[in-house]
Amino acid sequence: MECRTGCAACCIVISISSPIPGMPEGKPAGVRCVQLTDDNRCRLFGKPERPAVCGSLAASIEMCGSADEDAFRILGELEKATAPESGHDR
Ligand code: SF4
Ligand code: SF4
Repeated sequence: MECRTGCAACCIVISISSPIPGMPEGKPAGVRCVQLTDDNRCRLFGKPERPAVCGSLAASIEMCGSADEDAFRILGELEKATAPESGHDR
């Protein structure tokens, strides 16, 4: 499937441990990435500063569901399940 532009669940819900311009420590779970525009697009799209993990996150029905609410719920559960190993405080 293709990423639903404007969804941005994966740029908000999950934690990103690599540095992001403006967020040198990475992004905690549940926090909007500073690189997200008001209409939920990535300012770094296609740029080398974009964390590799962002480019490697492929949209899938398992992760994104069929509506933005699905993605927020599924990723929230995923984040909860992986948080202890990722070492991020919640
Ligand atoms: S959760 Fe899926 S559909 Fe939503 S922004 Fe991320 S990749 Fe795109
Ligand atoms: S850098 Fe871009 S793709 Fe990565 S979390 Fe931030 S807004 Fe999303």
